[in-house]
Amino acid sequence: MARDERGVTAQSEDFAAWYNEVVFKAGLVDRGPAKGTMVIRPYGYRLWELLQSELDRRIKDTGHENAYFPLLIPESYLGREAEHVEGFSPELAVVTHAGGKMLEEPLVVRPTSETIIGEMMAKWISSHRDLPLLLNQWANVVRWELRPRMFLRTTEFLWQEGHTAHADEAAARRETMLALDIYHEVARELAAMPVVPGEKTPGERFAGAVATYTIEGMMRDGRALQSGTSHYMGTNFASAFDIRYTGEADREELCHTTSWGMSTRMIGGIVMTHGDDKGLVFPPRLAPHQVVIVPITRGGNVGVEDAANDLARRLRSAGVRAHVDARPQLTPGFKYNEWEMRGVPIRLELGPRDLEAGTVMMVRRLGDGKQAVPIDSLPETMPGVLDDFQAFLLARATAFRDSHTRTVDNREAFADAVSTGWGLALHCGSSTCEEEIKSLTAATPRCVPLGGEPETGVCVRCGAASAYGKRVIFGRAY
Ligand SMILES: [Zn+2]
Repeated sequence: MARDERGVTAQSEDFAAWYNEVVFKAGLVDRGPAKGTMVIRPYGYRLWELLQSELDRRIKDTGHENAYFPLLIPESYLGREAEHVEGFSPELAVVTHAGGKMLEEPLVVRPTSETIIGEMMAKWISSHRDLPLLLNQWANVVRWELRPRMFLRTTEFLWQEGHTAHADEAAARRETMLALDIYHEVARELAAMPVVPGEKTPGERFAGAVATYTIEGMMRDGRALQSGTSHYMGTNFASAFDIRYTGEADREELCHTTSWGMSTRMIGGIVMTHGDDKGLVFPPRLAPHQVVIVPITRGGNVGVEDAANDLARRLRSAGVRAHVDARPQLTPGFKYNEWEMRGVPIRLELGPRDLEAGTVMMVRRLGDGKQAVPIDSLPETMPGVLDDFQAFLLARATAFRDSHTRTVDNREAFADAVSTGWGLALHCGSSTCEEEIKSLTAATPRCVPLGGEPETGVCVRCGAASAYGKRVIFGRAY
C-alpha cells in the first residue's frame, strides 16, 4: 500500500481503507466503547456546527420552530403505524429495566420521532387555525447497526428532524418539496456536493410514507450517498395518532403530515465527495480552519511568528477562519502534510525572507500551485480566494459525477455503468425486478430525478413497460 508520511492509504488504491483511515487520522472522529457508536472530535464537530447553523437558519427562515421531544418512547407507540414498526423493529434499542426493576412497558430509544411528535400534535391541534404546525428538532437518534461505518452508519447519530402537519394534501406536498429544496441548497452551496434531487421508488420509501424524496450525492468511488430525505406521510400518522382538526364547515378532518431529516452522515459525504490521495479536502464554507498560517521560524525568529499572528487577526476581522500553527516542536514540512491531510483549503507559508519582501506563499489544497502574494492585500482578497476554491470544488465534483453517469439501455451496459458510477435506465417499477437487479449488480434505484427528461420505453432488465415516464438513477449505495 502506498502511504504518505501521515500513514493514509491512497484513495486510488483502496477507497474503503482510505476512508476508514482518514476520518480517524484527521481527528474527525473516534470509536465509542459501545459497538457502532462514535465520538465526534472537536475538528469534526466544528464542521457539523457550521453546517448545522446554516441549516438551522434556513429552517427558521421558512417558518419552522425548534422544539425538543423525549428520547424515550413507549414501545406501543411504534406499533400504531404498521409499516413504521415493521421498518424500524430490527434496528430498535429497547429499555426494559430502569430504577432497579423491570418496566411495565418497555421504552424505545428513539430511532426517529414521528410517533411521539404525532402524539403531541394530536393534543395541540384542534382547529384549522392551529395549522400548519411547523416543528423541527435537533437531536440524537439510535438505530442498531450491525455493520457500522463512521458517520455513514453508526448506532447513534445526530440530526435534525422536521415534522409538520397541514390541512390538506397540497399544502403538505408543498412542505415536503420545500424541505427538499433546503437540503439541495445546503448540499450544493455549503458542502459543494452536486446532489441530484428526486423521488424514491416504492421499494425505497421511508417506513410509513406515501412518498419519499431524496438528494443523492456521488462519492469518488462512484457510489451514491443518500444525503437528506423528505417524506409526505399522507394521513397515515394522523390516523394512527388521531391528529385531527375541525374544518371551516365544522367537520372533523385528518391532518396531512410530513417529516424530513439531514444528519451527521453529511460529514461522510463531504469526506468522500472531495477527498483525494493526500486526505481530506474541505469546502471553505464548512472548513473549521479556512486558512492555516505556518510561520517558518528556524532559530526562533520571533518577528515571523508575530507577523503570522497579526495576519491571522486581520483575516479574522475580514470574516475568515484563520489558524496559526505555531507548534515549536514540528517542522514546517510536517505541518504542510498534516494540514493537507486534514483538508484545509488554503495554506500560507511565512518565512523571514517572505516577511522582508512583504509577501507570503499561498498554497491551495487543490489546483493552482504556490504563489507569492502581498501580505497586506490578503484580508481583502482572501474571501474571494475562498469563494473561488468553493466554486472549483463544486465544478470538480459535478464533472466527476457527470463523467461517471451513463445512459444505459441493456443489461451489459447497465452492469458496466454501475460498477464505476451511475446508470440512467428505464425501469418497470416492480420490486421483484429491483431485487433481481440488486442481487446481480449490487445496484439499487437511487431516485427518479425531478429534473429528468420525459421518456418512455421498456425496462432495462425485464423488458416490461417503463413506469416513471423518465429514466431512473441506479447505483451502488452506502
Ligand atoms: Zn423490470
